[in-house]
Amino acid sequence: MEKPCARSLEELREACRQCRACGLAATRQNVVFGEGNSRAKIFLLGEAPGAREDESGRPFVGRAGELLSRLLWQAGLERGDLFITGSIKCRPPRNRNPRRAEMAACRPVLNQQLDLIRPRIIVCLGLVAAQNLLGPGVRMGDVRGQWFQYRGYRVYPTYHPAAVLRHTVSAGLIIEDFRTVKKALSSAWQPPQ
Ligand code: SF4
Repeated sequence: MEKPCARSLEELREACRQCRACGLAATRQNVVFGEGNSRAKIFLLGEAPGAREDESGRPFVGRAGELLSRLLWQAGLERGDLFITGSIKCRPPRNRNPRRAEMAACRPVLNQQLDLIRPRIIVCLGLVAAQNLLGPGVRMGDVRGQWFQYRGYRVYPTYHPAAVLRHTVSAGLIIEDFRTVKKALSSAWQPPQ
């Protein structure tokens, strides 16, 4: 999908289903476009679909998805109020990380999702999402819990819930970050026109 020009999220979703802009189209079962509130103030950006997501066509299902819903709830956020998607929409074989060329190929979809939804804040879940928006050289330890900009949108990176399942990060840190994001929504900042 080189030049998406959808006028609505549904139109973009349909175009995305047909997308063959990178090699992942050959091995996917489903395009995982994303889901949630089309007027969400918070846009959660993950990595890439895994096996369960590829089967179901939905983002963040399975253990990491259940944990994500719980962490959001503990921070006073409802999953259904947000929009959730990945940095790429098709599953990489054997769950490898997305390649830079694949993320570049999928960027027009992401950019148009943002411009149709116009969220107040993009939360990057994990390093792949942070590197996708902020540059390939960033390290999670340097950017987590700090504010950045991407095409005029405020960006706040935190850890991926899978890191909690791997016991490399405590759930409390992600909850703390979600609470910060919730608090930031009450500031006067508006998305770009
Ligand atoms: S990952 Fe993105 S660019 Fe590649 S085929 Fe899927 S929708 Fe198209």
